[in-house]
Amino acid sequence: MPRRLLVTSALPYANGAIHLGHLVEYVQTDIWVRFQKMRGEEVHYVCADDTHGTPIMLRAEKEGISPEALIARVYGEHTRDFAGFHVGFDNYHTTHSPETQALANDIYLKLAGAGLIEVRSVEQFYDPVKAMFLPDRYIKGECPKCGARDQYGDSCEVCGSAYTPTDLVAPYSVVSGAKPVRKSSDHYFFRLSDARCQAFLKRWTRSGTLQPEAANKLDEWFHQGLADWDISRDAPYFGFEIPNAPGKYFYVWLDAPIGYLGAFRNLAARRGLDFDAWVRAPAAGDDGIEMVHFIGKDILYFHALFWPAELEMAGYRTPAKVFAHGFLTVNGEKMSKSRGTFITAASYLGLGLNPEWLRYYYAAKLGPTMEDIDLNLEDFVARVNADLVGKFVNIASRTAGFITKRFGGRLAAPRHPLLGQIQAAAPRIASLYDEREFGKAVRETMRLADLANQYVDQEKPWDLARQAGDGQRLHEVCTTAINVFRLLTLYLKPVLPKLAADVEAFLRVPPLAWSDAGALLPEGHAIGAYRHLMTRIDPKSIDALVAANRESLQPAPVTAPHSQQRHAEAKVHAEEKHAKPIAEAPAAAAPTISIDEFGKVELRVARIAKAEHVEGADKLIRLTLDLGGETRTVFAGIKSAYDPAALEGRLTVMVANLAPRKMKFGVSEGMVLAASGDGPGIFLIAPDAGAQPGMRVK
Ligand SMILES: [Zn+2]
Repeated sequence: MPRRLLVTSALPYANGAIHLGHLVEYVQTDIWVRFQKMRGEEVHYVCADDTHGTPIMLRAEKEGISPEALIARVYGEHTRDFAGFHVGFDNYHTTHSPETQALANDIYLKLAGAGLIEVRSVEQFYDPVKAMFLPDRYIKGECPKCGARDQYGDSCEVCGSAYTPTDLVAPYSVVSGAKPVRKSSDHYFFRLSDARCQAFLKRWTRSGTLQPEAANKLDEWFHQGLADWDISRDAPYFGFEIPNAPGKYFYVWLDAPIGYLGAFRNLAARRGLDFDAWVRAPAAGDDGIEMVHFIGKDILYFHALFWPAELEMAGYRTPAKVFAHGFLTVNGEKMSKSRGTFITAASYLGLGLNPEWLRYYYAAKLGPTMEDIDLNLEDFVARVNADLVGKFVNIASRTAGFITKRFGGRLAAPRHPLLGQIQAAAPRIASLYDEREFGKAVRETMRLADLANQYVDQEKPWDLARQAGDGQRLHEVCTTAINVFRLLTLYLKPVLPKLAADVEAFLRVPPLAWSDAGALLPEGHAIGAYRHLMTRIDPKSIDALVAANRESLQPAPVTAPHSQQRHAEAKVHAEEKHAKPIAEAPAAAAPTISIDEFGKVELRVARIAKAEHVEGADKLIRLTLDLGGETRTVFAGIKSAYDPAALEGRLTVMVANLAPRKMKFGVSEGMVLAASGDGPGIFLIAPDAGAQPGMRVK
């Protein structure tokens, strides 16, 4: 009986671009899924865009579009990036779907029926200008300990103190700048502290579902005591309204994991699968179905506490495995826009870099633990060139030509003992893939590639080809090499699906399954002509990649000083998902300037009369700005975040007295203002309603 696996990767949030940090998880999951499929298991790999919450609502508002239009645009970007890196989802859906809404309602109503939902009055900060409650991430003020200005509501980035938003001195809303007031409202809580939830979680945590270090983390949380979970947010909110609770919406983190099931229901309908059998709690014992989640360690709290407890208490199947991985560092440091190491998937693909280089490097670094992995760019170039080109592809490129030229493309009988040795590695490498020991699987495969290259070096087919006779020895040596190459391709296929497909075409074999390691290419099998399979990485292309992602090279946006991108673990209890303030206030770290110095900058409100793509420019949009009579042409580096069509008619703010600058594509007469942080996304500044083109900003 094959295993029956429902596999997920965490849902990316629909307000920013996919970057190389995200890709660690999608590549890791995809390798595991491809391996299981090669083994003949029944696997359904689903994911979706996570589309709800305050950040989406406010960003759409800033762009002057509906949240639906924003998430539709981002959906297009995300699916394009994932396809570019060969991430083979069986379904990529959206949480803003009827399937997810129906499942969220069902789970909620079952929890309510079990007495696990409670309504409590909560006092929170409220923005009286914007008429909305403020998530903690949208409140800033002075640190109560050290007095640093513009600190977030939960902790100070200057002195490191932790506190609650009520402790802030002179708090303000980052949405409107208004002083927030305290206001009460009814909130809906999931009673995680209920004895039934606690008893279930203690059992489930030690059932082999979690990695040991994750289970230890949970014990810590149990020790601290499990608090009930606030699952509602007040209107205005982009999300699903809670049944029988007008004006109350499910918190984005409630419906995000339910989006896994929503995506699967959508797939099940198309594939004719019995959805209920897959997702309901099995009636009796083990029915062989496994739900497997791959996640980042920062969202363990949601996937190992709230999610399984909700599912269990609502009568759904609980996860069989939750696999958490670490974060990506680049050159040993946190990804950084100023260093150019915050690399987007689109920029990597746009520069023509081979996605399988990165897949291979990640695989070589990945293991089953929550440890961080490092993308060292020099090591990346060296390793891919040495392993994939120098060792692996080399085996075919040195020998295939002789088969074609001397033997009509036909192979001899495979006889050499090296072949048995390489075939015998199949079960070991399979176990390594299954245990997510990808680094070990890759190293083992490269060790076998070394053996093959030593063999070819000893036999020297290029010398054999010059000897007189029928060339039988040459035929046997090249046959052995081609058979080895086929086996190593099979072992690397979960990591390198595109290259494997090219090799299958070259060898004229059907798609390789894991069991094919038991057989060799028979005598007389005809292969195709060898074509180049993979090029080396040119280190210059990596320099270009870093340059393309280095923020200071972008011509237009004035960026707010970077705020630290903090890990979610510290703030999962209270924070809005991935919240990122729309307009960052100047940070305390910038050097002081006088009012006269500031006065030299002529900022004016401008209407975007026209916005156009620039032929041959990856980042730029050409803007025609109306300053109330006068027009200016400005090239803005905002293409990654905006569709030109969506910009026309909007108001923004420009620096009107900037010296004109000759650029490759024309003269830029000023610049527009936009905000960005360490995370993805560029946010154009817009004045409040009523402002007119040409007005001075001061
Ligand atoms: Zn402080």
